[in-house]
Amino acid sequence: MEFDEERLLSAHALSRSEDDGDLSLRPHTLEEYIGQDTVKENLKIFIEAAKKRQDSLDHVLLYGPPGLGKTTLAYIIAAEMGVSIRITSGPALERTGDIVALLTNLQDGDVLFIDEIHRLSRTVEEVLYPAMEDYEFDIILGKGPSARSIRFNLPKFTLIGATTRSGQLAAPFRDRFGVISRLELYTNEDLKKIVTRSAGILGIKIDDAGAYEIASRSRGTPRIANRLLRRVRDFAQVIGDGVIHKETADIALDKLEIDRLGLDNVDRMMLEAIIRNFRGGPVGLETLAALVGEEPVTIEDVYEPYLMQIGFLSRTPRGRCATPAAYEHLGFKYEPK
Ligand code: ADP
Repeated sequence: MEFDEERLLSAHALSRSEDDGDLSLRPHTLEEYIGQDTVKENLKIFIEAAKKRQDSLDHVLLYGPPGLGKTTLAYIIAAEMGVSIRITSGPALERTGDIVALLTNLQDGDVLFIDEIHRLSRTVEEVLYPAMEDYEFDIILGKGPSARSIRFNLPKFTLIGATTRSGQLAAPFRDRFGVISRLELYTNEDLKKIVTRSAGILGIKIDDAGAYEIASRSRGTPRIANRLLRRVRDFAQVIGDGVIHKETADIALDKLEIDRLGLDNVDRMMLEAIIRNFRGGPVGLETLAALVGEEPVTIEDVYEPYLMQIGFLSRTPRGRCATPAAYEHLGFKYEPK
């Protein structure tokens, strides 16, 4: 797949591998983790209770769009529990041996974090069922009459799974997670705090209005907020006095073609296509994906959550529709059908 390197909001830009320097920006404690209050409060109680019982934490499933802080939260949970964490991802665990190697190396209480857990293979998933439930699993060695089964006993570990779509997990798998938490897109206020915090860590000077401007164009997503902050800093240094004010942020973000609501060219192209070519919709997901040259999953995971949150796109059984608010934002006249 080809990616446009310049695009700030592409799926590529949202992927972790692109997150150079982001490690320093990761909060390390629940206290430092901004927003997601419900999730945080629940986790705090579960962590305290587990620590009191001197027990491991129940398995946790975190779901929500990319860049909202699922991996960050997994690190924080391990740190708060005072245990080690091992990180892997669904697609990286191809064979049974891969997951067996990981599981058998865990210590009591350890966290095993599996990103993109909806992409695990069936065979790996089947090892995880008994491992999660009874902290043991059987492996069959050999074939035919000489086949024998070996039982592995595991320490009490905590599995933390992250996914953009909990609906894609098989029900019996989902049921094995004691804690299921959904991360929401962040409010502008919370994103402003994140931008201010990151600016502090990176030694970037920014005023309140500047931080709010970046926050409000970050589609509810901390990863995008941090990314925009870095880009805007470059502008502030070249065209301004090195401090990010509202005006510098405005100029920079306009140049980067990120509009006031955080929409980029692809969002606009997608909405315009629905309005122009399909009179506002409904348009099927596959057609939409073909129109903007993205994978259907990218449309669903990366673009739609925010467009739906701001009320620009609605999902109907027959497809996606542009709302009157989207018409207005893009300068089209809305005509009810
Ligand atoms: P996900 O795993 O959901 O894709 P990450 O945990 O990798 O997202 O988060 C992306 C980046 O956003 C992190 O590197 C971190 O700097 C920042 N971030 C995420 N959530 C928060 C938060 N609640 N407070 C501060 N920074 C955050």
